[in-house]
Amino acid sequence: MAIPFIDLAAQRARIGRRMSDAMMAVLDSGAFIMGPPVRELEQQLCAFGEGRYALSCANGTDAIVLPLMAWGVGAGDAVFCPSFTFASTAEVVPWTGASPVFVDIDPVTYNIDPAGLERAIVETLANGDLIPRAVIAVDLFGQPADYPAIAAICRRHGLKLIADSAQGFGCTLNGLHPLHWADVTTTSFYPAKPLGCYGDGGAVLTNDEALAEMMDSLRVHGKVVASDLKGRTFDHDPKYLSMRVGMNSRLDTIQAAVLIEKLAIFADEIVTRNRIAARYNDLLRPHVLRVPEVIAGGVSTWAQYTIEHADRDGLAAHLKSRGVPTAVYYPIPLHLQPAYDIYPVANGALPVTDAASKTVISLPMHPYLGESQQDEIVAAVASFG
Ligand SMILES: *Cc1c(COP(=O)(O)O)cnc(C)c1O
Repeated sequence: MAIPFIDLAAQRARIGRRMSDAMMAVLDSGAFIMGPPVRELEQQLCAFGEGRYALSCANGTDAIVLPLMAWGVGAGDAVFCPSFTFASTAEVVPWTGASPVFVDIDPVTYNIDPAGLERAIVETLANGDLIPRAVIAVDLFGQPADYPAIAAICRRHGLKLIADSAQGFGCTLNGLHPLHWADVTTTSFYPAKPLGCYGDGGAVLTNDEALAEMMDSLRVHGKVVASDLKGRTFDHDPKYLSMRVGMNSRLDTIQAAVLIEKLAIFADEIVTRNRIAARYNDLLRPHVLRVPEVIAGGVSTWAQYTIEHADRDGLAAHLKSRGVPTAVYYPIPLHLQPAYDIYPVANGALPVTDAASKTVISLPMHPYLGESQQDEIVAAVASFG
């Protein structure tokens, strides 16, 4: 049997019946957008992610832009983020008119390097072209960024902090979720993410009531919200007042129904992912340049299991010939991409990012990866000259 990179069918076999029933119930209800299951999911996301407010939205990219819009980040502002990430992390910044400033990563965790971030902020302030406003840290491959260090830097410089946890929603550091340190945690429910739905979806979590209300307005075309009405009178129904320029970023009810079923087994799946990753590490360590290492005190959701190999492309071809699928995240860092090479690179170069992009390769990883398939994958890696 072919080895899948991510086995969504195995998960579907586990909870398929309950999920089908939940989806049919939505069809029967007729409430296709923002129906009752959406509210229910948002409450469950609050409980799971230990946040006071959770707002679902259309995808994980919108989830990142919503707080930036709510804070009024715009032209002339700098938003610091890694280059070794998916395009969305940086893409949302020019949407607002602001400029991403790319920062290098830690060579072990692949997450934004706090020392590099501090230097980038100082450098940006010295240049005087852009005003530092926010940091987007990414929980790459599922493991938490170094939030205590990053949050201290943000506090010192008065910057907002977003945890782009599209890959890492559910990860913890010293038992705490990224939202313990960040102003906002964002996630994606893209099907291949650790907590995925059957289409596009996303969510944003915060403990800040005013911010939550503003993002609620922005995700529905800048609709009027309670604080807009305070102390004002209207000679017509204010329901259709547009208070600000927003967007259409709602979650389909059917996706909420899917996610409620998946969230019910998510904690268990994270435990399984960690057991599988630990076994990979033990078996692969002698055969590769580097096996993944999680920050001290961290628990990863293992969105990817990523090793390094000096002949990454040779290994990929060899594994393919043995029926083992692989993927490379990310072969071209954002600061070298045509869309983003015009934006500033902190401290002039990103040597750790550049090096990692040449050696990383991700192996099949999902909570239903059995030991015999894992042994096959390990044997295939070990047999590469
Ligand atoms: C997937 C991903 C996103 C965006 O999610 P979409 O739902 O595809 O918009 C953002 N950031 C990171 C790091 C991602 O991996």
